[in-house]
Amino acid sequence: MKILVLNAGSSSQKSCLYEIVDSSSLPEHPPQPVWEAKVDWSHHQGFAEMEVVTAQGTCLKEEIRTHSRPAVIAYLLDTLWKGETQVIKQLSDINVVGHRVVHGGQEYRESVRITAEVKAAISRLIPLAPAHNPASLEGIESVTNVLPQVPQVAVFDTAFHSQMPQASALYAGPYEWFEQGIRRYGFHGISHQYCAQRTAQILGRDLNTLKLITCHLGNGCSLAAIQHGHSIDTTMGFTPLDGLMMGSRSGSVDPGILIHLLRQENYTAAQLDQVLNQASGLKGISGISSDMRQVSEAAAKGSQRARLALDMYIHRLQAGIGSMLAGLKGLDVLVFTAGVGENSAWVRASACEAFEFLGLKLDPRKNQQSPADQDIAAVDSSIRVVVVHTQEDWAIAQECWKLMQLS
Ligand code: ADP
Repeated sequence: MKILVLNAGSSSQKSCLYEIVDSSSLPEHPPQPVWEAKVDWSHHQGFAEMEVVTAQGTCLKEEIRTHSRPAVIAYLLDTLWKGETQVIKQLSDINVVGHRVVHGGQEYRESVRITAEVKAAISRLIPLAPAHNPASLEGIESVTNVLPQVPQVAVFDTAFHSQMPQASALYAGPYEWFEQGIRRYGFHGISHQYCAQRTAQILGRDLNTLKLITCHLGNGCSLAAIQHGHSIDTTMGFTPLDGLMMGSRSGSVDPGILIHLLRQENYTAAQLDQVLNQASGLKGISGISSDMRQVSEAAAKGSQRARLALDMYIHRLQAGIGSMLAGLKGLDVLVFTAGVGENSAWVRASACEAFEFLGLKLDPRKNQQSPADQDIAAVDSSIRVVVVHTQEDWAIAQECWKLMQLS
Protein backbone atom coordinates (compact mmCIF):
# COMPACT_ATOMS: atom_id res chain seq x y z
CA MET A 1 0.00 0.00 0.00
CA LYS A 2 1.32 3.44 -0.95
CA ILE A 3 0.39 6.15 1.52
CA LEU A 4 1.06 9.81 0.84
CA VAL A 5 1.13 12.09 3.90
CA LEU A 6 0.68 15.86 3.70
CA ASN A 7 1.53 18.12 6.59
CA ALA A 8 0.61 21.75 5.88
CA GLY A 9 2.21 24.47 8.01
CA SER A 10 1.33 28.15 7.77
CA SER A 11 4.20 28.88 5.32
CA SER A 12 5.52 25.41 4.71
CA GLN A 13 4.45 22.12 3.21
CA LYS A 14 5.94 18.79 4.21
CA SER A 15 5.05 15.54 2.56
CA CYS A 16 6.23 11.96 2.44
CA LEU A 17 5.35 8.66 0.81
CA TYR A 18 5.36 5.37 2.69
CA GLU A 19 5.21 2.02 1.05
CA ILE A 20 3.80 -0.83 3.13
CA VAL A 21 4.98 -3.94 1.37
CA ASP A 22 2.78 -6.40 3.25
CA SER A 23 -0.56 -4.55 3.18
CA SER A 24 -2.14 -6.99 5.63
CA SER A 25 -0.11 -5.73 8.61
CA LEU A 26 1.81 -2.68 9.75
CA PRO A 27 5.56 -3.05 10.27
CA GLU A 28 6.59 -3.24 13.93
CA HIS A 29 9.10 -0.39 13.64
CA PRO A 30 8.53 2.89 11.81
CA PRO A 31 9.80 2.44 8.24
CA GLN A 32 11.76 5.05 6.33
CA PRO A 33 9.61 6.93 3.80
CA VAL A 34 10.50 6.14 0.17
CA TRP A 35 10.18 9.83 -0.70
CA GLU A 36 10.23 12.95 1.47
CA ALA A 37 9.69 16.57 0.50
CA LYS A 38 9.90 19.87 2.38
CA VAL A 39 8.91 23.21 0.96
CA ASP A 40 9.33 26.50 2.80
CA TRP A 41 8.30 29.92 1.53
CA SER A 42 8.99 31.95 4.67
CA HIS A 43 12.54 33.02 3.69
CA HIS A 44 12.45 34.46 0.19
CA GLN A 45 9.44 36.60 -0.83
CA GLY A 46 7.66 35.09 -3.84
CA PHE A 47 9.82 31.96 -3.88
CA ALA A 48 9.49 28.53 -2.32
CA GLU A 49 12.56 26.50 -1.35
CA MET A 50 12.00 22.84 -2.07
CA GLU A 51 14.00 19.79 -1.03
CA VAL A 52 13.08 16.25 -2.07
CA VAL A 53 14.95 13.19 -0.79
CA THR A 54 14.34 9.57 -1.74
CA ALA A 55 15.24 6.40 0.15
CA GLN A 56 17.66 5.61 -2.69
CA GLY A 57 19.62 8.71 -1.68
CA THR A 58 18.61 11.07 -4.51
CA CYS A 59 18.32 14.65 -3.36
CA LEU A 60 16.74 17.46 -5.34
CA LYS A 61 16.97 21.08 -4.18
CA GLU A 62 15.14 23.77 -6.11
CA GLU A 63 13.69 27.21 -5.69
CA ILE A 64 10.26 27.57 -7.29
CA ARG A 65 8.87 30.97 -8.23
CA THR A 66 5.59 30.73 -6.32
CA HIS A 67 4.24 30.58 -2.83
CA SER A 68 0.83 29.29 -3.75
CA ARG A 69 0.24 26.04 -1.91
CA PRO A 70 -1.73 24.35 -4.75
CA ALA A 71 1.14 25.15 -7.16
CA VAL A 72 3.70 23.86 -4.66
CA ILE A 73 1.75 20.63 -4.10
CA ALA A 74 1.30 20.07 -7.85
CA TYR A 75 5.06 20.52 -8.28
CA LEU A 76 5.83 18.15 -5.39
CA LEU A 77 3.50 15.47 -6.71
CA ASP A 78 5.25 15.61 -10.09
CA THR A 79 8.58 14.73 -8.43
CA LEU A 80 6.98 11.46 -7.25
CA TRP A 81 6.68 10.07 -10.75
CA LYS A 82 9.00 12.16 -12.93
CA GLY A 83 12.73 12.80 -13.15
CA GLU A 84 15.52 11.60 -10.89
CA THR A 85 13.33 11.51 -7.73
CA GLN A 86 10.77 9.19 -9.35
CA VAL A 87 9.55 6.50 -6.94
CA ILE A 88 6.23 5.49 -8.54
CA LYS A 89 5.12 4.86 -12.12
CA GLN A 90 2.04 7.08 -12.02
CA LEU A 91 0.21 9.14 -9.42
CA SER A 92 -2.75 6.77 -9.45
CA ASP A 93 -0.46 4.18 -7.78
CA ILE A 94 -1.08 6.07 -4.52
CA ASN A 95 -3.73 4.22 -2.49
CA VAL A 96 -4.57 6.80 0.15
CA VAL A 97 -3.58 10.34 1.18
CA GLY A 98 -3.45 11.40 4.85
CA HIS A 99 -3.55 15.02 6.00
CA ARG A 100 -2.54 16.50 9.32
CA VAL A 101 -5.36 18.80 10.34
CA VAL A 102 -4.60 20.97 13.36
CA HIS A 103 -8.14 21.59 14.59
CA GLY A 104 -10.95 19.05 14.69
CA GLY A 105 -12.98 20.94 17.31
CA GLN A 106 -15.26 18.98 19.61
CA GLU A 107 -16.68 16.91 16.75
CA TYR A 108 -13.69 14.86 15.70
CA ARG A 109 -12.36 12.43 18.26
CA GLU A 110 -10.75 10.15 15.69
CA SER A 111 -9.28 10.21 12.22
CA VAL A 112 -11.88 10.18 9.44
CA ARG A 113 -12.23 9.64 5.70
CA ILE A 114 -12.58 13.08 4.14
CA THR A 115 -16.05 13.84 2.77
CA ALA A 116 -17.79 17.09 1.86
CA GLU A 117 -19.11 17.16 5.42
CA VAL A 118 -15.60 16.80 6.93
CA LYS A 119 -14.30 19.58 4.69
CA ALA A 120 -17.17 21.81 5.81
CA ALA A 121 -16.31 21.11 9.45
CA ILE A 122 -12.59 21.91 8.92
CA SER A 123 -13.68 25.13 7.24
CA ARG A 124 -16.12 25.98 10.05
CA LEU A 125 -13.25 25.59 12.53
CA ILE A 126 -11.01 28.13 10.74
CA PRO A 127 -11.66 30.82 13.39
CA LEU A 128 -10.09 28.46 15.97
CA ALA A 129 -6.98 27.73 13.82
CA PRO A 130 -6.71 30.63 11.37
CA ALA A 131 -3.15 29.84 10.22
CA HIS A 132 -3.53 26.08 9.90
CA ASN A 133 -6.99 24.82 8.93
CA PRO A 134 -7.07 26.85 5.66
CA ALA A 135 -3.69 25.34 4.76
CA SER A 136 -5.00 21.80 5.32
CA LEU A 137 -8.09 22.55 3.21
CA GLU A 138 -5.88 23.82 0.38
CA GLY A 139 -3.88 20.62 0.61
CA ILE A 140 -7.04 18.49 0.45
CA GLU A 141 -8.37 20.42 -2.57
CA SER A 142 -5.02 20.23 -4.37
CA VAL A 143 -4.98 16.44 -4.00
CA THR A 144 -8.65 16.18 -5.05
CA ASN A 145 -7.85 18.07 -8.26
CA VAL A 146 -5.11 15.65 -9.23
CA LEU A 147 -6.39 12.40 -7.68
CA PRO A 148 -10.18 12.70 -7.42
CA GLN A 149 -10.70 8.96 -6.91
CA VAL A 150 -8.11 8.41 -4.17
CA PRO A 151 -9.47 8.31 -0.61
CA GLN A 152 -8.20 11.02 1.72
CA VAL A 153 -8.02 10.90 5.50
CA ALA A 154 -7.93 13.72 8.07
CA VAL A 155 -5.85 13.11 11.20
CA PHE A 156 -6.50 15.78 13.84
CA ASP A 157 -4.00 17.25 16.29
CA THR A 158 -6.81 17.84 18.77
CA ALA A 159 -8.40 14.36 18.59
CA PHE A 160 -6.18 12.65 21.16
CA HIS A 161 -7.21 15.21 23.81
CA SER A 162 -10.91 15.12 22.98
CA GLN A 163 -11.79 12.76 25.82
CA MET A 164 -10.25 14.93 28.54
CA PRO A 165 -12.54 15.17 31.54
CA GLN A 166 -14.42 18.45 31.77
CA ALA A 167 -12.51 19.42 34.92
CA SER A 168 -9.35 19.63 32.78
CA ALA A 169 -11.02 20.95 29.65
CA LEU A 170 -12.98 23.91 30.95
CA TYR A 171 -11.66 27.37 31.74
CA ALA A 172 -12.99 28.88 34.92
CA GLY A 173 -14.69 31.76 33.11
CA PRO A 174 -18.47 31.81 32.73
CA TYR A 175 -19.99 28.46 31.76
CA GLU A 176 -21.25 30.13 28.55
CA TRP A 177 -17.64 30.10 27.28
CA PHE A 178 -17.77 26.33 27.19
CA GLU A 179 -21.12 26.44 25.38
CA GLN A 180 -19.51 28.76 22.81
CA GLY A 181 -16.63 26.32 22.25
CA ILE A 182 -14.11 28.24 24.40
CA ARG A 183 -12.39 25.37 26.18
CA ARG A 184 -9.05 23.58 26.32
CA TYR A 185 -8.59 21.60 23.09
CA GLY A 186 -4.89 20.78 23.35
CA PHE A 187 -2.53 20.29 20.40
CA HIS A 188 0.44 18.12 19.36
CA GLY A 189 -2.02 15.24 19.84
CA ILE A 190 -0.66 13.17 16.95
CA SER A 191 2.80 13.34 18.52
CA HIS A 192 1.64 12.69 22.11
CA GLN A 193 -0.39 9.67 21.00
CA TYR A 194 2.37 8.28 18.81
CA CYS A 195 4.94 8.68 21.62
CA ALA A 196 2.65 7.00 24.14
CA GLN A 197 2.08 4.02 21.83
CA ARG A 198 5.76 3.79 20.89
CA THR A 199 6.77 3.96 24.57
CA ALA A 200 4.49 1.06 25.44
CA GLN A 201 6.02 -0.89 22.55
CA ILE A 202 9.61 -0.03 23.63
CA LEU A 203 8.91 -1.11 27.21
CA GLY A 204 6.94 -4.19 26.13
CA ARG A 205 3.94 -3.03 28.16
CA ASP A 206 0.22 -2.60 27.49
CA LEU A 207 -0.47 1.12 27.01
CA ASN A 208 -3.80 0.79 28.80
CA THR A 209 -2.03 -0.11 32.04
CA LEU A 210 0.44 2.79 32.00
CA LYS A 211 0.37 6.29 33.46
CA LEU A 212 2.52 8.52 31.29
CA ILE A 213 3.54 12.13 30.94
CA THR A 214 4.72 12.96 27.43
CA CYS A 215 6.85 16.10 27.01
CA HIS A 216 6.78 17.39 23.43
CA LEU A 217 9.54 20.01 23.48
CA GLY A 218 10.13 21.55 20.05
CA ASN A 219 9.63 25.15 18.95
CA GLY A 220 6.18 24.67 20.40
CA CYS A 221 6.08 22.82 23.73
CA SER A 222 3.34 20.90 25.47
CA LEU A 223 2.79 18.13 28.00
CA ALA A 224 0.11 15.46 28.06
CA ALA A 225 -0.97 13.30 30.99
CA ILE A 226 -2.03 9.93 29.60
CA GLN A 227 -4.07 7.23 31.31
CA HIS A 228 -5.81 4.21 29.77
CA GLY A 229 -4.32 5.29 26.43
CA HIS A 230 -6.05 8.71 26.43
CA SER A 231 -4.94 12.23 27.21
CA ILE A 232 -6.56 13.32 30.47
CA ASP A 233 -4.83 16.68 30.68
CA THR A 234 -2.54 18.82 28.58
CA THR A 235 -0.83 22.18 28.84
CA MET A 236 -1.85 23.77 25.54
CA GLY A 237 -5.37 25.10 25.59
CA PHE A 238 -7.89 26.90 23.44
CA THR A 239 -4.88 27.83 21.29
CA PRO A 240 -1.30 26.52 21.11
CA LEU A 241 -0.19 29.56 23.15
CA ASP A 242 -1.08 28.20 26.58
CA GLY A 243 1.10 26.30 29.01
CA LEU A 244 4.85 25.89 28.90
CA MET A 245 7.42 28.52 27.93
CA MET A 246 8.30 27.89 24.27
CA GLY A 247 10.75 29.09 21.61
CA SER A 248 9.01 32.37 20.87
CA ARG A 249 5.62 31.83 22.55
CA SER A 250 4.99 32.96 26.12
CA GLY A 251 2.95 30.00 27.35
CA SER A 252 0.60 30.87 30.24
CA VAL A 253 0.71 34.43 31.49
CA ASP A 254 -1.58 36.20 33.92
CA PRO A 255 -4.50 37.30 31.70
CA GLY A 256 -4.53 40.52 33.73
CA ILE A 257 -1.32 41.48 31.88
CA LEU A 258 -3.27 41.51 28.62
CA ILE A 259 -5.93 43.78 30.13
CA HIS A 260 -3.14 46.04 31.39
CA LEU A 261 -1.49 46.22 27.96
CA LEU A 262 -4.83 46.92 26.26
CA ARG A 263 -5.78 49.65 28.73
CA GLN A 264 -2.50 51.30 29.63
CA GLU A 265 -0.36 50.74 26.54
CA ASN A 266 -3.12 50.85 23.90
CA TYR A 267 -2.10 47.51 22.41
CA THR A 268 -4.18 46.25 19.51
CA ALA A 269 -5.21 42.60 19.17
CA ALA A 270 -2.62 42.22 16.38
CA GLN A 271 0.16 43.56 18.65
CA LEU A 272 -0.83 41.23 21.48
CA ASP A 273 -0.84 38.33 19.03
CA GLN A 274 2.62 39.27 17.73
CA VAL A 275 4.22 39.78 21.14
CA LEU A 276 2.79 36.61 22.70
CA ASN A 277 3.45 34.34 19.71
CA GLN A 278 6.64 35.72 18.24
CA ALA A 279 8.50 37.90 20.72
CA SER A 280 8.17 35.93 23.94
CA GLY A 281 9.48 32.65 25.38
CA LEU A 282 13.19 31.84 25.04
CA LYS A 283 13.51 34.59 22.43
CA GLY A 284 11.75 37.27 24.45
CA ILE A 285 13.69 36.64 27.65
CA SER A 286 17.14 35.91 26.18
CA GLY A 287 16.91 38.60 23.48
CA ILE A 288 19.03 36.19 21.43
CA SER A 289 17.03 33.48 19.73
CA SER A 290 14.04 31.17 19.96
CA ASP A 291 16.41 28.28 19.24
CA MET A 292 17.38 26.24 22.29
CA ARG A 293 20.87 25.50 20.90
CA GLN A 294 21.68 29.18 20.46
CA VAL A 295 20.28 30.17 23.84
CA SER A 296 22.29 27.36 25.52
CA GLU A 297 25.47 28.47 23.76
CA ALA A 298 24.92 32.08 24.81
CA ALA A 299 24.32 31.00 28.42
CA ALA A 300 27.53 28.96 28.36
CA LYS A 301 29.39 32.06 27.17
CA GLY A 302 28.07 34.07 30.12
CA SER A 303 24.85 35.76 28.89
CA GLN A 304 22.78 36.41 32.04
CA ARG A 305 19.53 36.75 30.10
CA ALA A 306 20.11 33.50 28.23
CA ARG A 307 20.76 31.80 31.61
CA LEU A 308 17.56 33.32 32.99
CA ALA A 309 15.60 32.10 29.93
CA LEU A 310 16.88 28.55 30.50
CA ASP A 311 16.10 28.69 34.23
CA MET A 312 12.56 29.86 33.48
CA TYR A 313 12.10 27.18 30.78
CA ILE A 314 13.07 24.46 33.27
CA HIS A 315 11.05 25.96 36.10
CA ARG A 316 7.90 26.00 33.94
CA LEU A 317 8.59 22.50 32.63
CA GLN A 318 9.01 21.08 36.13
CA ALA A 319 5.87 22.89 37.33
CA GLY A 320 3.93 21.52 34.35
CA ILE A 321 5.10 17.96 35.00
CA GLY A 322 4.18 18.39 38.67
CA SER A 323 0.67 19.44 37.74
CA MET A 324 0.25 16.46 35.37
CA LEU A 325 1.53 14.14 38.13
CA ALA A 326 -1.23 15.33 40.44
CA GLY A 327 -3.89 14.66 37.80
CA LEU A 328 -2.54 11.17 37.12
CA LYS A 329 -2.02 10.38 40.82
CA GLY A 330 1.12 8.48 39.93
CA LEU A 331 3.55 7.97 37.11
CA ASP A 332 5.05 4.97 35.31
CA VAL A 333 6.85 6.70 32.45
CA LEU A 334 8.13 10.17 31.63
CA VAL A 335 8.63 10.56 27.87
CA PHE A 336 10.72 13.19 26.06
CA THR A 337 10.28 13.99 22.39
CA ALA A 338 10.75 16.62 19.59
CA GLY A 339 13.85 18.75 18.90
CA VAL A 340 14.70 19.70 22.49
CA GLY A 341 13.24 16.61 24.17
CA GLU A 342 15.11 14.22 21.89
CA ASN A 343 18.42 16.07 21.81
CA SER A 344 19.05 18.07 24.96
CA ALA A 345 20.46 15.84 27.70
CA TRP A 346 20.69 18.94 29.89
CA VAL A 347 16.96 19.77 29.61
CA ARG A 348 15.99 16.15 30.39
CA ALA A 349 18.36 15.93 33.37
CA SER A 350 17.22 19.31 34.73
CA ALA A 351 13.54 18.43 34.36
CA CYS A 352 14.03 15.05 36.04
CA GLU A 353 16.05 16.44 38.96
CA ALA A 354 12.89 17.83 40.58
CA PHE A 355 11.38 14.33 40.79
CA GLU A 356 14.30 12.45 42.31
CA PHE A 357 12.39 12.48 45.61
CA LEU A 358 9.91 10.09 43.95
CA GLY A 359 12.71 7.66 43.14
CA LEU A 360 13.09 8.81 39.52
CA LYS A 361 16.72 8.25 38.51
CA LEU A 362 18.29 8.79 35.11
CA ASP A 363 21.18 6.71 33.84
CA PRO A 364 23.53 9.69 33.18
CA ARG A 365 25.53 7.88 30.50
CA LYS A 366 22.46 6.82 28.53
CA ASN A 367 20.91 10.27 28.93
CA GLN A 368 24.06 11.92 27.57
CA GLN A 369 23.86 9.80 24.41
CA SER A 370 20.27 10.96 23.62
CA PRO A 371 19.35 7.55 22.22
CA ALA A 372 16.16 7.53 20.14
CA ASP A 373 13.43 5.12 21.23
CA GLN A 374 15.19 3.94 24.37
CA ASP A 375 14.68 3.83 28.09
CA ILE A 376 17.28 6.13 29.73
CA ALA A 377 16.29 5.59 33.37
CA ALA A 378 18.65 3.88 35.83
CA VAL A 379 17.86 0.22 36.44
CA ASP A 380 16.58 0.96 39.94
CA SER A 381 14.51 4.03 38.98
CA SER A 382 10.90 3.95 40.24
CA ILE A 383 9.79 5.67 37.01
CA ARG A 384 10.97 4.82 33.48
CA VAL A 385 12.23 7.70 31.34
CA VAL A 386 12.03 7.18 27.58
CA VAL A 387 13.29 9.26 24.65
CA VAL A 388 11.07 8.80 21.59
CA HIS A 389 11.82 10.11 18.13
CA THR A 390 8.42 11.51 17.26
CA GLN A 391 7.20 10.54 13.82
CA GLU A 392 3.96 12.37 13.20
CA ASP A 393 3.98 11.48 9.50
CA TRP A 394 4.25 7.79 10.28
CA ALA A 395 1.45 8.16 12.83
CA ILE A 396 -0.74 9.71 10.09
CA ALA A 397 0.19 6.91 7.69
CA GLN A 398 -0.79 4.33 10.33
CA GLU A 399 -4.19 5.99 10.74
CA CYS A 400 -4.68 5.86 6.94
CA TRP A 401 -3.77 2.19 6.90
CA LYS A 402 -6.24 1.42 9.71
CA LEU A 403 -9.11 3.27 8.01
CA MET A 404 -8.35 1.53 4.71
CA GLN A 405 -8.65 -1.85 6.46
CA LEU A 406 -12.17 -0.92 7.52
CA SER A 407 -13.33 0.13 4.05
P1 ADP B 1 9.16 22.09 15.55
O1 ADP B 1 8.36 22.31 16.79
O2 ADP B 1 9.21 23.30 14.66
O3 ADP B 1 8.85 20.81 14.81
P2 ADP B 1 11.60 20.77 16.45
O4 ADP B 1 10.86 19.64 17.08
O5 ADP B 1 12.48 20.47 15.32
O6 ADP B 1 10.66 21.97 16.05
O7 ADP B 1 12.46 21.47 17.61
C1 ADP B 1 13.22 22.62 17.39
C2 ADP B 1 13.98 22.93 18.67
O8 ADP B 1 14.84 21.80 18.96
C3 ADP B 1 14.88 24.16 18.56
O9 ADP B 1 14.75 24.95 19.74
C4 ADP B 1 16.26 23.55 18.51
O10 ADP B 1 17.22 24.38 19.08
C5 ADP B 1 16.08 22.32 19.38
N1 ADP B 1 17.16 21.37 19.18
C6 ADP B 1 17.47 20.65 18.08
N2 ADP B 1 18.62 19.94 18.27
C7 ADP B 1 19.04 20.24 19.52
C8 ADP B 1 20.15 19.85 20.32
N3 ADP B 1 21.06 19.01 19.86
N4 ADP B 1 20.24 20.36 21.58
C9 ADP B 1 19.33 21.20 22.04
N5 ADP B 1 18.25 21.63 21.36
C10 ADP B 1 18.11 21.15 20.11
